[in-house]
Amino acid sequence: MLSPDRTVRQRMTDLLFDARRSSYQLAQLLGIPERQVEDHLSHVVQSVARDRTRRFVLEPSTCTDCGYVFRDRKKLTKPSRCPSCRSEGVTAPRYGIELRKALSRRLDSRAVSG
Ligand SMILES: [Zn+2]
Repeated sequence: MLSPDRTVRQRMTDLLFDARRSSYQLAQLLGIPERQVEDHLSHVVQSVARDRTRRFVLEPSTCTDCGYVFRDRKKLTKPSRCPSCRSEGVTAPRYGIELRKALSRRLDSRAVSG
């Protein structure tokens, strides 16, 4: 049986490459519920972690009231409230995939002459 999940994850990986997107944006772009985005996303994170050429980037949530940044948060999902001021005005985290630095530098230097 062909798994449709595989296609969604492939498309998600493409959408995240060299970009920063929230799970809401991914849900819109992929036409699936945000809850499913979070499930697929954890698998995308795992496959990127095994890839030596790319890395997964998590741009942390911030509190819009006090500016608190959720740097230490391990979960991919949006926190419900700020631990510092208890505000619920918390931005959604954004995700992306980039080439690892060493490799992209090497590729850049090769591409310069054109
Ligand atoms: Zn706050």
